[in-house]
Amino acid sequence: MNNLADIALAIDRADSVLICGHVLPDGDSLGSMLALGLALEKLGKKVTMGGADRVPAIYGFLPGVDRYVEGAPPAGEYDTFIVLDCSVPERLGKGYQEMLSSGVVVINLDHHAGSKSFGTYRYIDPAAAAVGEIIFDLFNLMKVDISLESAICLYTAIVTDTGSFQYENMQPDTHRRVAELLELGVPAAQINQELYEEKPKAVLDLLGLALGTLSLSPCGRVCWMTVTRKLLNISGAEDEHTEGLVNYARSIRGVQVGILFRETEGGDFKISFRSKGTVDVNRLSAMFGGGGHPRASGCVMSGNLADIQEKIVSAAVLAAGGINN
Ligand code: 5GP
Ligand code: MN
Repeated sequence: MNNLADIALAIDRADSVLICGHVLPDGDSLGSMLALGLALEKLGKKVTMGGADRVPAIYGFLPGVDRYVEGAPPAGEYDTFIVLDCSVPERLGKGYQEMLSSGVVVINLDHHAGSKSFGTYRYIDPAAAAVGEIIFDLFNLMKVDISLESAICLYTAIVTDTGSFQYENMQPDTHRRVAELLELGVPAAQINQELYEEKPKAVLDLLGLALGTLSLSPCGRVCWMTVTRKLLNISGAEDEHTEGLVNYARSIRGVQVGILFRETEGGDFKISFRSKGTVDVNRLSAMFGGGGHPRASGCVMSGNLADIQEKIVSAAVLAAGGINN
């Protein structure tokens, strides 16, 4: 583990930088990437940004998002590869994972507690609510004047990873950093509207169908929802529109663990866990090969849906101190 000053020096030495986040990019991985990439470009570095998966439409407003290259990393001479918000090499996605062993300097910036140790330089701060906070601190160390464009990206990273400043990953310093971003002119209300109030109707159609699948364990501590390809097809919603659905499962009184089972295009099941009690869902998802944070985690499983649900729900009920009937 390095300190941020080491990271700042390593970035200072870089000439040609490739930056990526994780598969199924979210507000933190994209916001952090664009904020950093745009700033490094202003410092005269050659910057390439991208990832294996496409950018969800709601992040289309982010400054610099047109620079994101989808798919395998573009061919190029890179001396430095910066990896953001990615706890395990597998979540880099195809093409990017291979970059780790290509001989370039790898800088790994993350905030996942169980983050795997990879990269030439590593800075992992589980106390950070978002990688965007780490980038903010890095800018200060590098004495970078944060541009409005980068500030918008950092605000987006922080607002999305804190659930609009609701989650317990918030620290007093999170608000201090955000206050500075607002002072730089970030139009917070406009960004929040882009993120949360510009949904296609299909998203609410999907919500209606998904709520119809809500199931509660007999102990009342675990609640889950299921989104199959069929429900996505009927509603006309896209995979990315399932974001946030799991919070409905968690929002019921007495529920400690909310779970969303989502069938992927490939026929596997993506499972999202959210905790609001004392259950560490990072540990829960790790039992099934996944990971994340104590209150938000995920994993992917293949097989028969009923079998998967039986395994996952039983483990969740046990973790929540309930009794499987
Ligand atoms: P979500 O449920 O929103 O997809 O993911 C919540 C958190 O869990 C993410 O911040 C991510 O860190 C983690 N996560 C989700 N899916 C996986 C997975 O398949 N493997 C690992 N290691 N972490 C995951
Ligand atoms: Mn994050």
